Amino acid sequence: MPDLAQLKQKYRNRDRVVHAIACDGTIRASVVVSTVTAQEAQRRHSLEPVGAVLLARALSAASAMASFLKGEERIIVEAKGSGFIRTVYAEALQLGEVRGFVEYNANVNGKSSPLGKGVLQIRKILYNKAEPITGIVELQAGNLTTDLAHYFWQSEQIPSGVRLDVTLGDDGKIECSAGIIVQALPGADQVQLRRIYQFLDSIGSLCELVRTGYNAEEIARQTLPADITLFSSTPVDFFCRCTKERFKELLLGIGEEELIHMRQVGQNELVCQYCGARYYLTSEDFDELLEQLRASRN
Ligand SMILES: [Zn+2]
Repeated sequence: MPDLAQLKQKYRNRDRVVHAIACDGTIRASVVVSTVTAQEAQRRHSLEPVGAVLLARALSAASAMASFLKGEERIIVEAKGSGFIRTVYAEALQLGEVRGFVEYNANVNGKSSPLGKGVLQIRKILYNKAEPITGIVELQAGNLTTDLAHYFWQSEQIPSGVRLDVTLGDDGKIECSAGIIVQALPGADQVQLRRIYQFLDSIGSLCELVRTGYNAEEIARQTLPADITLFSSTPVDFFCRCTKERFKELLLGIGEEELIHMRQVGQNELVCQYCGARYYLTSEDFDELLEQLRASRN
């Protein structure tokens, strides 16, 4: 029988993002606690601490921004740099699914500026738009926090307070990850805004609030003025929609010759870049794919 106390603990520990508004809708905020998601990402991709921290921030940012969207609308946060980290990628759906990965530059050393020079690109995939809405800014600090605030100001002209906080344990593993985005919408009161930004500056780290037992909603209530309305509160999970079947559909695109070659050299492992899942093609899978290719040719 499942232990009720354990289940309750698990539910309490589940990551969550809340979207709240205040001051008659002139200020909005999204708060995410993404610890479990970030830990899962680090484990799946076997990340060293620097990459794990940057990915945790990107996952927080994507989840927080996605909470401003609808249903299956998506946000992609992608930083590309020339440092020893080449790519930090996170993708989130409004309904709480998030996934992401880190890519390294093999020949670059030094950890002082992990991403080095580069860009931050934000893509929004929205229901009513045929093409993704894309904004790109140059990396400022390469920590993603400053870069995201800069993006909002430069690309969307929305003054925003951003914090993406991560703490690591002595073992280099993610201990806590949390983020907040506060945005001034048209008509926002400057005095209120200044108070919010000052509050965000004054707290050492969101992780300290999390450690003392605050959840995402309580952090939103602490940060925003009293007349807060909770718009949504959504559990967040590291989740990827990849399946072996989807991979097989993609393989049909590479053609018969390449498939035969893969089979001959025993290349049967498929790894999902986004979540690290591994799938293995059996002899039957190869037969099925080749048959489908031949059938489509006739
Ligand atoms: Zn996957």
